[in-house]
Amino acid sequence: MSVLLTGSTGFIATHVLDQLLSKGLSVVATYRSESKVDFLKKRFEGKSVEFVLLSDIESESEVKDIFNKNPQITKVIHTASPFHFNFTDPLTEVLQPAVNGTKAVLNAIPEHVTHVVVTSSVAAVVDIKYIDDYNEIITEDSWNGISWEDAEKKGGSFTYRGSKTFAEKAAWELHKKAKYNLVTILPPLVFGPVYGQTDTLNTSNEQLVDALKKGSNFRYAGTYVDVRDTAAAHVAAIDATESARWLTIGGYYTRQEILDITNKEFPEFHADKGTPGDYSGLKRAFRYDNSKTNKVFPRKYITLKQTVEDTFRGIDPKYINK
Ligand code: NDP
Repeated sequence: MSVLLTGSTGFIATHVLDQLLSKGLSVVATYRSESKVDFLKKRFEGKSVEFVLLSDIESESEVKDIFNKNPQITKVIHTASPFHFNFTDPLTEVLQPAVNGTKAVLNAIPEHVTHVVVTSSVAAVVDIKYIDDYNEIITEDSWNGISWEDAEKKGGSFTYRGSKTFAEKAAWELHKKAKYNLVTILPPLVFGPVYGQTDTLNTSNEQLVDALKKGSNFRYAGTYVDVRDTAAAHVAAIDATESARWLTIGGYYTRQEILDITNKEFPEFHADKGTPGDYSGLKRAFRYDNSKTNKVFPRKYITLKQTVEDTFRGIDPKYINK
């Protein structure tokens, strides 16, 4: 038995890979860029992982080829999807790779695969108009109501949120005629230690660094989860006994709380002070009820303090001082 992991070079996927290998599982890990996979090959040298090129995530035949060459794959974790905002064409650079990529991977899955896990997002759950609405309570049954037109035309966060919503909907649609168990993982903003430093920091940790800057909206509140908890959810989900959406939220953060933790633990960063202790933004953030997820994936989530400290402890200072 082995696990197919798509997008293995990604921030979340590197932790998933680490945890799969630590459990003694064999992994076939896809990548699209030699330069990005080198650090993984070094880090996991001698471990039970084979790195395979998947040059076009939208190519069903390329994915089928991987399954044909690796009949031992019985579980699939699909994480590969664009998560950045520096695109010029929302359709070809974000929406299509997310949605068609999910379709290509799921369509290529052979009958003997028993479990499929797709990395979705809270972005597929909460409508952008409710992110500052305390009266909004999201659950595993909530869906972002964004239209394809808005996702394509409005750009930025709308495009990303649309990409996650429509990719996850495509997964559930394909699952209707499939035999495997499907679990979609719905993390909010994911912070945590980065494996392998590259020229750019991943998008969600970039927001953590951004919170340190003068002029940030220190009262802003949202939900976060640590990358190690996120990875653990993916690994647990390959044994799920039922198909479901898992809303894996660690808790709330405010940018001010991130500042307070940073100023105490890392004074050398000279982060802004903001208004210490003012977490009033929490009274505006949407709320969540993930009790269904807690039943199938009980977890003591890593605290914000721990995740901020561990992220900044391992981070290359060039990301902080730019
Ligand atoms: P990263 O940008 O670090 O990783 C994204 C992964 O997807 C990389 O392996 C990347 O390959 C691959 N990828 C991106 N675009 C394409 C494309 N067009 N074709 C093929 N592969 C592509 O992001 P994260 O690890 O943070 O995100 C992983 C998943 O988790 C995504 O599905 C994202 O939407 C989801 N997610 C992330 C959250 C977060 O806060 N980080 C929150 C909720 C969900 P390459 O390395 O070659 O660029």
